[in-house]
Amino acid sequence: MGCPHAIGVKESIVSHSTGTRVLRRGDEGYEQARRAVVWHAGAPNRFPEVIVRARDEDDVMDAVRLARDEDRQMAVCSGHHSWSGSHLRDGIVLLDLAGLRDVSVDSEAMTATLQPGVRGSELGALLHERGLFFPVGHCEGVCVGGYLLQGGFGWRGRELGPSCMSVTGIDVVTADGNHTYADGTRNPDLFWAARGAGPGFFGVVTRFHVKLYSLQPVTLTSFYLYPPDVWEEYLRWSRLIEPTLPAEVELWNLMYRDESVSSEGPVISVSATAFVDTEERAREELTLFERCPVRDRALIAEVNRATTTSELTARNTHYPPDRRFIADNTWTHASFDELLPGLRAIHQDFPPAPTHLVWFPWTLTPQRPPMAYSVEDELYLALYAGWEHPADDETYRRWVTERMRAMEPLATGIQLADENLINRPRRFVTEDSLHRLDEIRARYDPDGRFVSWLGRPQFAHAP
Ligand SMILES: Cc1cc2nc3c(=O)[nH]c(=O)nc-3n(C[C@H](O)[C@H](O)[C@H](O)COP(=O)(O)OP(=O)(O)OC[C@H]3O[C@@H](n4cnc5c(N)ncnc54)[C@H](O)[C@@H]3O)c2cc1C
Repeated sequence: MGCPHAIGVKESIVSHSTGTRVLRRGDEGYEQARRAVVWHAGAPNRFPEVIVRARDEDDVMDAVRLARDEDRQMAVCSGHHSWSGSHLRDGIVLLDLAGLRDVSVDSEAMTATLQPGVRGSELGALLHERGLFFPVGHCEGVCVGGYLLQGGFGWRGRELGPSCMSVTGIDVVTADGNHTYADGTRNPDLFWAARGAGPGFFGVVTRFHVKLYSLQPVTLTSFYLYPPDVWEEYLRWSRLIEPTLPAEVELWNLMYRDESVSSEGPVISVSATAFVDTEERAREELTLFERCPVRDRALIAEVNRATTTSELTARNTHYPPDRRFIADNTWTHASFDELLPGLRAIHQDFPPAPTHLVWFPWTLTPQRPPMAYSVEDELYLALYAGWEHPADDETYRRWVTERMRAMEPLATGIQLADENLINRPRRFVTEDSLHRLDEIRARYDPDGRFVSWLGRPQFAHAP
């Protein structure tokens, strides 16, 4: 086994954790710190009593003790990329781990340990330099803390599965204030829960132990932009070819308004990336997109471009942080014809950018290990609305929630990544997994110290 190589991330970004460590409601700087724990401009009006910005693991244990001494509930955040600001709750101790950003890589063993405040995009770039890979998320800013707990849908996710499958162990501070370790054999229940409980996890993860992969030699992407009038034909075709897409090809279809291209309605952008061993194979796999029946209508076509995941991540500019945001989503295996009425409803009154619809074909391979994460399907549809004025909050909240509610008869469930549980609590794990999570929580957090999901799905036979 090689000597772990500690990458000096902590030193270069330590400024993130400077400033007052403990802020109480009413203190100077409190409101700034409260708003900063939600990445977009629409931080909800929920007010923790105390915000603790941890510098190290001792601070984490102190924060748990503080919550216990004051008999308060507590919540945790890392990268602040929860759409709903799930950790912002009234009267709690909020523990912010954004400053915990150590990365340690063992290149020979192909493993790493990650503190929760490590950004996926930074990790991806660090590993790329070393010929290594981890399935980090598709956008800058998302940190591994919340990302890995909820499942984690990252680059090469169709091939490698949800990223929590690559977590081999966690260091965790539990509700009794003790620091412990969990994996498949030590505290296996806690480890099972940490892979999928997302914002309902009942502990503070201070370090993730993960396995790494070799970087694929070739990453080739074909981009297309289709005009508004072919959206139905394109998506119908996409739905037909999706079952034949190799797992190493990742397809993103996005619907959004771009007035500089067309004022007739939303356009469809297509990004198909092959992560493979040879250029020949990549070209062969991407040829499919050249055979799309509306290919000659594409307004833009950049075919077989050599790319990196960092470049692909940087192209993802649909999330300006000065806007207020809401997201909601659906897993489905419905056919295009079944989806069409719901899609038409979305399409007909589509708001301006940055609002967009994501259409992301998924795979159910490789085989999933036992873990709380337990609901997924062939196709992922997510709506993200972004707007400027607080006066429009209700309009957008209703638009996103109602459009996704209309898809419910076709839905298998939802992802916690883009949860809208406060408005539409739907199934994000199986009923058995939800009950098992309850049982494990009762053992590790008997007093309910940690807050849970913002909404809880009702199953027909739930007690
Ligand atoms: C612009 C954008 C792009 C996104 N892209 C992707 C994507 O490509 N793939 C994908 O899977 N998801 C994506 N997401 C969803 C994102 O992964 C989840 O919201 C995730 O929870 C964010 O993690 P975080 O640490 O950045 O956020 P936070 O808001 O800090 O954490 C989210 C929740 O996780 C829990 N939590 C966080 N850290 C800890 C910890 N250390 N211990 C215990 N509990 C903790 C808390 O309950 C917290 O409320 C995206 C979100 C946004 C806003």
